[in-house]
Order: sequence, then structure tokens, then C-alpha cells
Amino acid sequence: MKIAFFDTKPYDVRYFEEYGKKMGIEYKFFETKLCEDTVELAQGYDGVCVFVNDTVNAAVIDRLCEFGAQVIALRCAGFNNVDVKHAFGKIHVLRVPAYSPYAVAEHAMALLLTSIRRIHKAYIRSRDYNFSLSGLTGFDLHGKTVGVIGTGRIGRVFIDICRGFGMKVLAYDKYPASIEGVEYVELDRLFSESDIISLHCPLTDDTYHIIDAESLERCRRGVVIINTSRGALVDAEALLGAIKSRKVGAACLDVYEEESDLFFEDKSGHIMDDEVLARLISMPNVIVTSHQAFLTEEALENIAQTTTSNIAGFFEMKQCPNELCWRGSSAEDCRDGKCF
Ligand code: NAD
Repeated sequence: MKIAFFDTKPYDVRYFEEYGKKMGIEYKFFETKLCEDTVELAQGYDGVCVFVNDTVNAAVIDRLCEFGAQVIALRCAGFNNVDVKHAFGKIHVLRVPAYSPYAVAEHAMALLLTSIRRIHKAYIRSRDYNFSLSGLTGFDLHGKTVGVIGTGRIGRVFIDICRGFGMKVLAYDKYPASIEGVEYVELDRLFSESDIISLHCPLTDDTYHIIDAESLERCRRGVVIINTSRGALVDAEALLGAIKSRKVGAACLDVYEEESDLFFEDKSGHIMDDEVLARLISMPNVIVTSHQAFLTEEALENIAQTTTSNIAGFFEMKQCPNELCWRGSSAEDCRDGKCF
């Protein structure tokens, strides 16, 4: 099987080559992202392997189908960049539903601690032999209320971590589960009672800008916003406004609405055209990492293993438990009632 692999980074190659050899998949690594301009590279391949910022819209899907590609293998959990409705019945979309919820949840907590204990400031100061503590006062997490939006795999690990710190947890999920000791509340209450809000839901029409000027208005003064999920969950301009007005005490962002042409690339030495991002990064109480939360050795290995076995299993048996949409032609054939 030959798979065109888009948006390749050096850390992908090691793991995907290893698992490709083991499972009989030949990956051709392209550094460019998949989009309408680059889809021609996929000609002659049985499928494509894509990541979070590849564009898999209707035009790209149609072209892939014309080339005879059979699978779009996402090497990530989120699939908001794939027009899954358009793909239905035409091409199979596989994903990696879970590879290390710990990687993302631990990164969310790392960002939170860094920001509220001013570790990012202290690190720079002490490298300069400036051992002053002025301006570095933080606050205890113990006893604080954290609002968790989305209590799936990552949200639950994050909840466990927060409880380890002695925090009270309020949760909101469109499909609440029963998690011992976790109180599900309406969004209104979560916004008004949380000291910290962490986003762990997918990006959908429902969740687009779930943090916007209106929801921020309902939050406590000094609230800390953590987003390790998808950039467009947060209206970045509204967030910037709320930081300027001191409503938001700190923001920890691993994802950004307009990240696709910036994150994962070395842009140092370039003029930053994105004024909102530039302003956010300039704030002392904002920490931005560039979609790094997944990046642990364990996660990379799991991603390569699951993606490759998804592809191998699909070509062997023409089905895959990690297919996003069942291959039937009607909703009745849908697995788990989750068909699009
Ligand atoms: P998951 O599917 O296990 O959990 C998502 C949860 O969100 C589910 O409980 C679901 O019911 C809930 N949900 C769905 N619609 C909702 C809505 N409208 N409002 C509130 N909750 C809703 O997914 P996961 O593995 O926990 O991943 C969560 C998100 O994290 C992914 O969608 C992805 O965008 C993001 N992610 C980011 C990184 C990173 O590196 N920054 C890595 C992996 C995943």
C-alpha cells in the first residue's frame, strides 16, 4: 500500500517508517500541507495521511477520489479540517481517537501552573541573574474551582489531575457521563463559578467560539482560560479584549484560531502579520505554545502505530473500527448512531 503523507515533520518520519515497515505500508513523506494546490501529489497513491492543519475540503476529496485514493488517514483525534459529510460514501476517513490523553491533559496543567506561578517570567529572570521576586506572586490551585468543558478522554484525565490538586470540578458536556464526584452544570453556572476554565470538547458548529465576548462577560474577574483543544473554540479578539480590560487573569493557549499557516513552523525572523496573535503573545499573562500538547514520545509512537494499523486493517478487511463514518448508505447502518 502506498500512502502520501502530508505536512511531514522530522519527528513523524522515525515512527511512521518503523511501523510502515512492520505493517507493509509504504509512506511517501511530503513536507507540504494537503490543500487544493498540492492534492495532485497524491496521484498514484492508495490514500493520504494528514494532520490537523491539512485542508481536506470537498474539492480536495473529489480530486482524491478521481485519483482512486480509498482512504484519508488522520493521524490525530480531531477531524474539523475534513469535510466528513462530503466524504461520506466516497472515501473512507480513519482517525486516531486516542493516543495519549495524558499528553494533552498534562500539558494543559503545565500551562496553567506556568502561568499562575509566573514560571515563564522567573525562568528568564534567573537566567539573567535577576533573583528578585517582585511581580511573581501567584495563587494556590487548592480549593479553586475549575470548569471543564468536554469530559471525554482528555477532559477526564485533566479532571483527575485537578482533583489531585484539591480543586473543585464543575463540568459541562453535551453528552454528560457519570463520573464519580463530578458535578455537571449548565454553561451559565460553569462560567459564573469557575476560577479556571479548560476546554476539552471538539470544534463543531455548537462549540465554535464557545468562549466569546458574551461568555467572558459572565465569567469571574481574573478567570484563567486554558485551550488545548481547537483554536476556534475561542474568539481570539474577544479574549484579547477581556485580557486588556483585566476581566481575564491569564490565558494558556496551545491552539489558535488562525494557527494553520503559523504553528509547527519556524517563523522567527519573519514579520508577524497576525496582529491579534502578536498582541496576545506580548501580554505577560498569556502563554502560547504551538499545538504542542500531543508531543510526547508515547503519543507519537501510539499515533504511528494506530494510524498504520488503521490503514493496514482497512486494506485487509475493508473496515476499520476507527473509521469516522460507517460505510453504509443510510443512517441505519451507522455505527454507534454517530453517522453524519
Ligand atoms: P473525546 O471525543 O474523548 O471527548 C470529547 C468530549 O466533548 C466528549 O465527551 C463529547 O461528548 C464532548 N462534546 C461534544 N460536543 C460537545 C459540545 N457541544 N459541548 C460540550 N462538550 C461536547 O475527545 P478527546 O480525545 O478528549 O479530545 C478532545 C479534543 O482535544 C479533540 O476534539 C481535539 O480537538 C483536541 N486535541 C488537541 C490536541 C493538542 O495537541 N492540542 C491533541 C489531541 C486532541
